[in-house]
Amino acid sequence: AEETMIRSEKLALIGQLAAGIAHDIRNPLTSLKGFVQLLKYKNTDYVDVMMEELEHINYVVNEFMMLAKPHLSHYIDSRVIELVQSVVSFLQPHALLYNVQIQLEMDPEISVITCIPDQIKQVLINVLKNAIESMESGGEIQITCRNRWNQDLIICVKDQGIGISEEKLAQLGEPFFTTKANGTGLGLMVCKRIVEAHGGKLSILSQINQGTTVEIALPINSRYHI
Ligand code: ADP
Ligand code: MG
Repeated sequence: AEETMIRSEKLALIGQLAAGIAHDIRNPLTSLKGFVQLLKYKNTDYVDVMMEELEHINYVVNEFMMLAKPHLSHYIDSRVIELVQSVVSFLQPHALLYNVQIQLEMDPEISVITCIPDQIKQVLINVLKNAIESMESGGEIQITCRNRWNQDLIICVKDQGIGISEEKLAQLGEPFFTTKANGTGLGLMVCKRIVEAHGGKLSILSQINQGTTVEIALPINSRYHI
């Protein structure tokens, strides 16, 4: 009976996901079609808008794919510092746009964790992107990494952004919960799924107008924790 329940819950979730995805893909597509139509008569002024819409479709589809096939890759020993640094440099242009500075503090004692590196990078990208987008007039993000009891790696991403109210905090991680005009509301859900698949835990602490801290706890050697 429990299995049937989990199954029907999953089916309901898939239906919800599919409906939302279709909606999210249709809007930019309609817009694209209109602009392409115009290109028949004029020339390239609309290319920027077209690219933005394509970018959005791409983003939505990527997040959806992550939900659909989270188990395809292998766990390998990965250098944490390299994962974090590559994500920070990947998002540097986004941070500059928002006038945000990123500080990085790594405990030298942690070097390697067993994980699916691309998925952990995806988690860091989603969390860091949210942190950047929470600070409209700029500010600082602190990323810290430490070792807890030689068992878990704790990555904290702390921003000085708008924060999240208590009632919204309860909705985080639900599919399509977003407060952004162009948001998918899938980012945190993907993060939670990936972190849990690694035997870890993602938690969020926040205060309105003060900022938000996302804590990602990952077992240092996942193979022993799953
Ligand atoms: P999206 O970023 O597409 O909206 P997410 O799942 O990444 O989807 O985030 C869902 C919502 O959670 C955001 O729209 C925002 O309201 C809130 N949120 C997430 N991270 C933060 C943060 N660091 N500061 C403030 N709000 C946040
Ligand atoms: Mg997001």
